[in-house]
Amino acid sequence: MNARAIMREFGIRPSKRLGQHFLIDEAPLYKMLEAARLNESDEVLEIGPGLGVLTLELCRRAKKVVAVEKDPNLIPVLEKLTKSYNNICLLREDVLKLDMEKLWREYFDGKFKVVANLPYYITSPVIMKIINNRHLIEMAVIMIQKEVAHRLVAAPGNKDYGILSVAVQLYADVDLVCHVGRSAFLPPPKVDSAVVRLVLKEGSAVPLEDERLFFKVVEAAFGERRKTVKNSLRSRLSLFAGDVEEALERAGIDGSRRAETLTIEEFAALAREIKDYLK
Ligand code: SAM
Repeated sequence: MNARAIMREFGIRPSKRLGQHFLIDEAPLYKMLEAARLNESDEVLEIGPGLGVLTLELCRRAKKVVAVEKDPNLIPVLEKLTKSYNNICLLREDVLKLDMEKLWREYFDGKFKVVANLPYYITSPVIMKIINNRHLIEMAVIMIQKEVAHRLVAAPGNKDYGILSVAVQLYADVDLVCHVGRSAFLPPPKVDSAVVRLVLKEGSAVPLEDERLFFKVVEAAFGERRKTVKNSLRSRLSLFAGDVEEALERAGIDGSRRAETLTIEEFAALAREIKDYLK
């Protein structure tokens, strides 16, 4: 049954507040499934199963599916639609309040995969939750706003490269799976979408002595986008110009560059060298 027919049968009216835009186009659905490289030993967390279009396909392919849905109205619909599968656990929960360690202990045997067409109002916190729980998660295939997807995959020098790109690429290999137009959803959202895949790393892309300091430097460097990295660091970290220049030189970075051209390795070197100048 497709989303339109399910809505009609169960009298569902999509909630804007909960970001309910149900997938009606099969092409992106199959691209997501293919990107997740599912096999019968996989355990999957789906966030926001909605009307179960993706959920049913996950149940067919994976060993186990845990689907977390915030909307209580959709739970009976999902129960009915998935009743022929015994490898699904439906949880009526807000994913943002979910304790991932507890979920993992209760439902999963090993690392799991996240597959989700996300409600866009929680894209960033969900991505950060995935990153922060990377020791439990193997991979995430998520449908998100196109603009955010471009920021996640952006390389240094690209206009979309920023703090989010660095934060995610530090802990995951990210690639863009496909772009998805608005007409793929019912009702159509106001923005275009894209599917990205995050393959979580065991460690980080570069060794870090001090993660907090690293992000402090990254945030300071990006703090004033039109300024050179030297000037941004000086004003955001309240440092003397001479000290910033010295740290940059020791890190092998030309201070007249802008933050959006610095690689993760260069940010790590900068954090290492600037440490001594910070109180
Ligand atoms: N997976 C379905 C599909 O592809 O058609 C629905 C996707 S729809 C974009 C997002 C879903 O997330 C909705 O079912 C919505 O109710 C649910 N949702 C919204 N906020 C949530 C939250 N905080 N926790 C869990 N689910 C949420």
